[in-house]
Amino acid sequence: MSDNATSGQPAATRPARKRTYPPLPAASTGPAGRCPRCGEGRLFDGFLQTADSCKVCGLDFKFIDSGDGPAVFVILIVGFLVVGLALLMEVLWQPPLWLQMLILGPLTIGLSLGMIRPLKGWLIARQYEMKAAEGRVEEA
Ligand SMILES: [Zn+2]
Repeated sequence: MSDNATSGQPAATRPARKRTYPPLPAASTGPAGRCPRCGEGRLFDGFLQTADSCKVCGLDFKFIDSGDGPAVFVILIVGFLVVGLALLMEVLWQPPLWLQMLILGPLTIGLSLGMIRPLKGWLIARQYEMKAAEGRVEEA
């Protein structure tokens, strides 16, 4: 049943009710690419391009400023894994260099591409959760 049928008034003439949203964990909405407020709308418009606003709850995504954060996390995590694996392979197996490049090259690219979007989504959801924004001077 639509909301129109219950109130008897068209939606445009009713006073706008401010809907409240319970806080959602950033670990569930962000990595899934969902809106940090409602958890339903899509956060991304492309692979890493964020949408202008949530199509479900209307949250304006202008506040988003993840900067270099996702890339730094990807560099540190993937670097740790790939360099660790390279060292382990060298100590245990000593494969030829071409084979190491054949294994580690695609692994590095695959891990980086696989992790960047969930990490960006998570950082955006954390930014929303913590209400993080640039510092401003309040006028007295
Ligand atoms: Zn939303």
